[in-house]
Amino acid sequence: MATTALPAAIVRAETYYLPPPPPRPGQPPHDWSQVPGAELIYRWAEYRLSRRLPVPTGTVPDHPGLYARIDDGRWLAECDACKSAWIVSVADPRFGCVETTCKRAWVPLLLPDDTDAAEAEALALPRRFWWHEDDPRNPAWEPPSEPDPEEEP
Ligand SMILES: [Zn+2]
Repeated sequence: MATTALPAAIVRAETYYLPPPPPRPGQPPHDWSQVPGAELIYRWAEYRLSRRLPVPTGTVPDHPGLYARIDDGRWLAECDACKSAWIVSVADPRFGCVETTCKRAWVPLLLPDDTDAAEAEALALPRRFWWHEDDPRNPAWEPPSEPDPEEEP
């Protein structure tokens, strides 16, 4: 029976948005090591998706933030403006959307206090999904219960 080997770690922006190979063999590879994690997607979108988008300079005002989750072995967050999902950085908790029609500023990325524990939890599962406990998209999430008016304290 064939088994699919799973990668040994959860994919993050830093391990997914990698620079293109050198233009010609023997040339030095591109160095993105100094690019902040959340900004890697803008470099990647430029060469992989041919989308030259400016890196946002501001933050969406009063945005409560977007929850990061582990989806099939990758840290993801979903843009609440255009519904695109992108792989995110857990080291640089900002969400930027490279959908061409979206062009929004940074949105805070909501991460668990212990991302290593979340990764370990997901890595132990046959399918690597993990949601923040407060994320309404969490299948196990229940809305805060309304106080029962019939019940006396
Ligand atoms: Zn978007």
